Amino acid sequence: MRRKLIAGNWKMNGSLAANAVLLNGLKDEIRETKSSVAVCVPAPYLAQCQAALAGTAIAWGAQDVSVHESGAYTGEISGAMLADFACTYAIVGHSERRSYHGETSEVVAKKTERAIKSGLTPIVCVGESLEDREAGRTDAVVGEQIDAVLALLGPADLAKIVIAYEPVWAIGTGRTATPQMAQDVHAMLRSRIAARNSAAAENVQILYGGSMKPDNAGELLAMADIDGGLIGGASLKAADFLAIIRAA
Ligand code: PEP
Repeated sequence: MRRKLIAGNWKMNGSLAANAVLLNGLKDEIRETKSSVAVCVPAPYLAQCQAALAGTAIAWGAQDVSVHESGAYTGEISGAMLADFACTYAIVGHSERRSYHGETSEVVAKKTERAIKSGLTPIVCVGESLEDREAGRTDAVVGEQIDAVLALLGPADLAKIVIAYEPVWAIGTGRTATPQMAQDVHAMLRSRIAARNSAAAENVQILYGGSMKPDNAGELLAMADIDGGLIGGASLKAADFLAIIRAA
């Protein structure tokens, strides 16, 4: 039985004051949960999260990691730096990074590898555009994205990743994949991993992301291959994020 993971992606939102309110609201309510819970925050706030969340049931992480180990890469943040702040997770390949920063599947694969080498658990995002879905290319696009990652990882490392299926057309739009649409893609992703390592496929957590909210979380999280959620907008309000955690 896979444990569910509910991870918040704060994106480029927050302030020291607003984060303190949000983190206190979460800490007060999350003591023992059946699911794992995490927040992936802007890098400047990792120290704040570490101070606030150390010793709680809530893990924290980053929203990206450099492909490089260290050196002259202005503006980049290395896996070792994230590990210094006791991050558990690093999101890689979010569609906003792919589309606004030109990250290819090869770059995402290298970031995944770098995160693992740094002792972090990468949350590898994959997902198709609306145009791809309407043209019947979902499996081909998402399959190519995950295969690029799987090709770079050895069999043992396949057990060290989390995958997030995030249809681009559902992110921040209020439009959600139906539970069956999401389940179909999750099952396809799991079968791609099973082709390389069946034990890893059984254990890997595959999250759904894309306008998951308190009112649709229950039915999505009830699907056999949906092992949690990557939550954007709804992770910024303690009440909504807590309601999704309860639904899991
Ligand atoms: C995301 O950006 O990862 C996401 C799922 O956002 P939202 O929940 O706001 O659609």
